[in-house]
Amino acid sequence: MTAIRLGHLYPAQMSMYGDRGNILTLQQRASWRGLPLTVVPLGLGASAGAEVETCHGFFFGGGQDRDQAALAEDLRTHKGAPLRAAVAAGAPLLAVCGGYQLLGSHYATADGAIVPGLDLLPLWTQAGHRRLVGNVVVTPDPELGLGITRLVGFENHSGRTHLGPACRPLGRTVVGEGNNGEDGGEGVWAGTVVGTYLHGPVLPRNPALADWWLRAACRRAGWPDQLAPLDDGWELSAQAEGAERAGRERGPAGREREGGLRSLVRRAQRR
Ligand code: GLN
Repeated sequence: MTAIRLGHLYPAQMSMYGDRGNILTLQQRASWRGLPLTVVPLGLGASAGAEVETCHGFFFGGGQDRDQAALAEDLRTHKGAPLRAAVAAGAPLLAVCGGYQLLGSHYATADGAIVPGLDLLPLWTQAGHRRLVGNVVVTPDPELGLGITRLVGFENHSGRTHLGPACRPLGRTVVGEGNNGEDGGEGVWAGTVVGTYLHGPVLPRNPALADWWLRAACRRAGWPDQLAPLDDGWELSAQAEGAERAGRERGPAGREREGGLRSLVRRAQRR
């Protein structure tokens, strides 16, 4: 049988805050199960567009506004149609932060530029003035079938993402700001597409999400999608530590401390 081909979208431009750890996690979790997995870098240009058709699943990481703007045209022209066809046929696509924003219709940057997205899902993003930064705990939508009650990660974005009515968030934020800091939603999912603001990177500390990706990719590549269970002791203790840190920094006590610090700074500035 053929190796699972993981298409890594724009690894040179879109790889922030350790996002490559997601690729390493998928490689390692496949290899522990004896599943061959090949990473296919999908960079700028038409030839990479043709390679999209040969892939069984995709990862699209985060990036800065200027990198998102620099590749937006290439994404729509060379990758859009084959990516749309691949996900319609069940290929998993995990997109983080800047990649997540580019799944939607557009990203309106703080300086007024409009970066057009893939228009794969009905969502859009508007940059805000305050960055949303910190550890996040999310309760995933049970309908996605991850079989878990917690995802953890680290968000760092200025974009506020708004989902159209037909879109479901990946989950609800327990701690953190999520999509826009207002409606309690974090990320998005539809079929085999998941978008999220969770860096960290997200997959090492959320093995259920990594295995969700691998199961869908196995189905596309013709492998059985029953994955042998792994000992996730280390992964889950890292996850628990992230959740604990999120609560300490951004839960009620953390917010109080932060508020206190802010008023101290204001008082010092007035002097
Ligand atoms: N440039 C985007 C934002 O700040 C995405 C950042 C990222 O991918 N970390 O909203």
